Amino acid sequence: MTLCADLPHSAAMKMADAYHSVSFRRLWRNGTTTHKSAFFTAWLLSTLLSIMLGLASVIYAWSGLEVPFGGAVLYVTVYPPLLICTWWALCFGWGWGALPAYLSTLTLALYAGMPWYWALLFACGNPIGLGVMVLGYRAIAMPCSLFSWRALVFFLQMAFVGSMFSSAAALVWCYTNRVDQVALFAIWQGWWLGNFLQNALLVAPLLALTWPRVEVWLAAHQQLLSIQPTESRKLVLQLMGALIIGVLIYALTTIWLGTESVQAEMHSQSVAKLSFAADRLSAMIWAFFWVIAFVSVFMGMFGYQMFLHWHRTNNLLLEQLGRANAELAEQARTDGLTGLANRQSTNQALAECWHNSRLRGERAALLMLDIDLFKHINDRHGHMAGDKAIRMVAGLLRREVRSSDLAGRFGGEEFVLLLRRCECETALEVAERVRQRVEAALINEGSASVQLTISIGVAMAHHDDSDVDHWLRRADAALYEAKHLGRNRVILAA
Ligand code: GH3
Ligand code: MG
Ligand code: MG
Repeated sequence: MTLCADLPHSAAMKMADAYHSVSFRRLWRNGTTTHKSAFFTAWLLSTLLSIMLGLASVIYAWSGLEVPFGGAVLYVTVYPPLLICTWWALCFGWGWGALPAYLSTLTLALYAGMPWYWALLFACGNPIGLGVMVLGYRAIAMPCSLFSWRALVFFLQMAFVGSMFSSAAALVWCYTNRVDQVALFAIWQGWWLGNFLQNALLVAPLLALTWPRVEVWLAAHQQLLSIQPTESRKLVLQLMGALIIGVLIYALTTIWLGTESVQAEMHSQSVAKLSFAADRLSAMIWAFFWVIAFVSVFMGMFGYQMFLHWHRTNNLLLEQLGRANAELAEQARTDGLTGLANRQSTNQALAECWHNSRLRGERAALLMLDIDLFKHINDRHGHMAGDKAIRMVAGLLRREVRSSDLAGRFGGEEFVLLLRRCECETALEVAERVRQRVEAALINEGSASVQLTISIGVAMAHHDDSDVDHWLRRADAALYEAKHLGRNRVILAA
């Protein structure tokens, strides 16, 4: 996620890689009037609708509906505001979903007669659940489009954990309504299971349908998005903590409420009640089994998602490192001013070539080139003109060599041409051509034109050379002879 932001992706690609949220402050400051009015109107309408649907769920008692499943009776609560709030939280940011979730739960709690101080606490359930879901999306940088298995399973995982957290509010509800523990179990299970099923069956398709458009909208309105810190490790740790707490809360609450409700029946001596208690126990165990089965699968998948995320991030890092290393290696081989091989890599190439000519008898020519009276150019036209001259000669040498040859900058205005598998006549021809081309070229420096000449010493690799330095010294000696004889010429070493 962090790295993706640095890579040259298209805007849409960038959006797919990370969770983004619309910042209230940036929308207010950077948004046009159309943006603001459309976004706020849609959001306010959604909030109103959430509040109305929340009230309806109490008025028409959509909670704790019995659903037989896998040998157990499960309780499911239908709470439509969640559909709207989850969509807003995942598409546009936690706050946009959490606020309507809070307001709708608060309203229904007050309507149902819950004391206001309990209602304020009770309403935190769904915002907390949404917070955990969003945390997951931020930590893993999973796209909200549900068109891949990876994304779909991740959504279900997060929906489950989020539901687990939000269902804690059921305990407040039951406490304030003086509901006994038998009914509490139904309400609590109805809460998290209903929450999860609605996410899986309603929110998921809604998200899959709308996400492509939302994504395009987000990509086109980056100026409205909040800039989020991307401390992925911290987020993942928080998320893991939340997951573990969620699962533990679930397991403990199930065991506690289940045993309480069974014990309530066990105290009576009637056979009918005992058998009812046994049924309840069996139902509870089955419900527990199914949830633990889900949790195990989800935890496994979640671990795998973590691994994939980590793997992708590592690969990206390795790629960047590889590129940086290649660049560094290239820099270490080349001369900064001319881009030719530098002294060190020229020496290496010379040594290799000398060994090859020794072992296999390959013919090779070494040309030492030195610009004539270069100090005058520097003195008369300045060092910039001198640099320009060096670059001009370097460019000329680069164009002259074959891919198997090497052109290097040996020192200030001294160059080396290493011609592999080359006969003496060819080497002299190349040297003469280079000399003529340098002589013919003019360097424009301001109003003045500077003309250069170059002296060249040529030495063929010879079996009498005791080492590579000997070969070099012969080329150097030839170069100095060229200088002595009046410069601007090619001399072949003895
Ligand atoms: P000769 O014909 O005998 O070679 O005369 P020269 O003036 O070229 O003599 P010499 O090789 O002693 O002088 C080379 C000069 O090149 C000395 C130095 O100031 C200059 N020089 C070395 N490296 C650079 C460079 O990177 N840029 C510039 N502008 N000048 C450089
Ligand atoms: Mg010189
Ligand atoms: Mg010199």
